[in-house]
Amino acid sequence: MRLEAGPEAIPPTTTDDEIRAAVAQADLPALLVAVATLTGDRTLLREEFRPDPSQFLDPDAGISPATAAAAREEVVRALARYRDGGCVAAPPPDEGRLRAAIDFLVGGGLDDDYFRLLEEELALGGRDHRAPRWHKDDVAPGVPFTVAIVGAGMSGIAAAHRLDQAGVPFVVFEKNPEVGGTWWENRYPGCRVDVPNHLYSYSFAQTDEWPGYYSTQAVLLDYFRSCVDHFGLRDRIRFGTEVLGADWDDSEQCWTVRVATAGGAVETHRFQALVSAVGQLNRPKFPDIPGRDTFAGPAFHSAEWDDTVELAGRRVGVIGTGASAAQFIPPVAQVAGELVVFQRTPPWLLPVPNYQAELPEGVRWLLRHVPDYAHWNRLWIFWRMHEGLLPAAVVDPEWEHRDRSVSAANDVVREFLTAYLRASFPDDALFEKVVPRYPPIAKRIVLDNGVYPAALARENVRLVTEPIAEITEKGVRTCDGVEYQLDVLIYGTGFQASNFLVPMRIRGRGGADLHETWGPDARAYLGLTVPGFPNLFLMYGPNTNIVVNGSIIYFSECEAHYIVESVRMLLERGCRSMDVRRDVHDAYNEAVDAQNARMAWGASSVNTWYKSATGRISQNWPFSLLEYWQRTRVPDPGDYELR
Ligand code: NAP
Repeated sequence: MRLEAGPEAIPPTTTDDEIRAAVAQADLPALLVAVATLTGDRTLLREEFRPDPSQFLDPDAGISPATAAAAREEVVRALARYRDGGCVAAPPPDEGRLRAAIDFLVGGGLDDDYFRLLEEELALGGRDHRAPRWHKDDVAPGVPFTVAIVGAGMSGIAAAHRLDQAGVPFVVFEKNPEVGGTWWENRYPGCRVDVPNHLYSYSFAQTDEWPGYYSTQAVLLDYFRSCVDHFGLRDRIRFGTEVLGADWDDSEQCWTVRVATAGGAVETHRFQALVSAVGQLNRPKFPDIPGRDTFAGPAFHSAEWDDTVELAGRRVGVIGTGASAAQFIPPVAQVAGELVVFQRTPPWLLPVPNYQAELPEGVRWLLRHVPDYAHWNRLWIFWRMHEGLLPAAVVDPEWEHRDRSVSAANDVVREFLTAYLRASFPDDALFEKVVPRYPPIAKRIVLDNGVYPAALARENVRLVTEPIAEITEKGVRTCDGVEYQLDVLIYGTGFQASNFLVPMRIRGRGGADLHETWGPDARAYLGLTVPGFPNLFLMYGPNTNIVVNGSIIYFSECEAHYIVESVRMLLERGCRSMDVRRDVHDAYNEAVDAQNARMAWGASSVNTWYKSATGRISQNWPFSLLEYWQRTRVPDPGDYELR
């Protein structure tokens, strides 16, 4: 996949009608701003064309059809003039014009921080605003400081690239033979990203080659491989090497990291800092159902898909109806003789008609030939997703209908999603089974374009909601005594999300074990640092998961930035270690817990991987994206004990 390739000129042979056909397929607001900045024609940003970002499901964002048609025609004329003039772009917008353009898109009223955040996300002209503005050779030449990164998935790649830019040596240990993390491991049929891929990609590594809006696992894997090669990181990744654990050496102020090599040897290496980038959704979770080992047929987890097991014509059982199962149930249903789906809690389904669609040719053409349309398009997606649904997740303490929703806004979402389920499941009996009894957003919403309901409605598919009593040699027995005889059993039962960093053994100051220190509830300051574990940084750590706002890659970029700025702080001050103050860490976590209790996921008793075994929300970030960005701009030395 080619990255940041730069736009191609519009060939003089391209007709106005060809441009018109492409423009018809674009998201209008993003295209208006892109063409206005490209051509300098600011009349395109006049009031009547201004989008209403709250209309985020409408591609024209609330602009009336007649006005949208007029706006598109003006865009066509502007692009035709640009073509006829030899594709000479106007000078890049100065700050005032850039602000005006961003204001047009997002509705104005931005404070300085929000503007800077959006400018970074926009990365106009491919400019990487988040690149470190320092280099180790200037700050601390000759001072030994090497970082170990555990994992070459999405987060680890971001950290490696940023450290590389700052000239800080690093080694990435990756247990798998290839990069990609979750996109390497999850190969089940139907696996694809459920955040628009133009946003689920680094701000500093854009491509115009996404084949769809929500591309498949193979495409995502290709993207992350391409990033690693494009940035020249591959030679510093040790593949097939699993980190077993690490011990902090207080006298030497460094980590001793134990790794198992592909050949089975155990090695130790010393590093000044340790970055865990192992993900939250990495270690499969098998359910604690009696008799699990007795099943005689093949059984496997969705994240460990066994291609050698024949499903065609066979009796297949699936336990779980989360995001993974909702993706693999439709293709499995097509080949299985019989498919029995065991559902404990139904997911809410969000209608996304283009979920499996290919990007139309016109949109591809615009992404390639209209400079910065790709960047404005990405910003438009970011803005519509960024905090739009968050207010609907906040609990209204006065709201009386807590059994169904947590506020009036949440109830509107419920009505909308229920209407979609009603339309998607015409069969009354099936509809009754799939309507969730908990408030929307309390649990991960599953994206759908009609494929999942169609699969459940097939004649060879049966949705069982009776609880499972046991797994037997022949299949699954439910509490009503029925035994479902199966040839193959597939676990779509999720991950050990709350068991952060398992199975690594990490020992900090005084030999304290990280998991014993945590007990059942992992906590960290900003999700990144833990008292007593100096120079240890967690990416996608506790309480850094987002539920309805944005892309998790945004968090990884913020975390990578904070880590690189932390190394800078140490080197500039001549310090060797930073250990977060206990009081700072505790006060932060109290604020996070208090806010999570006010969110749908904290107030509802529904099962979700957002909660630890104690029921505490250990995964989710309950505040805005802006707040995480602000808090991770630069480490506050007052938050840390520096040595
Ligand atoms: P999950 O959301 O944790 O779902 C696990 C499923 O297994 C749930 O339906 C759960 O029921 C069921 N289950 C677990 N233990 C059970 C038991 N003992 N008996 C019966 N049912 C049991 O896991 P997931 O589907 O793998 O998804 C995890 C997360 O990964 C997603 O929320 C999402 O963030 C991410 N993901 C993303 C994508 C994507 O981007 N396209 C795709 C897949 C996954 P309960 O609900 O009752 O617990």
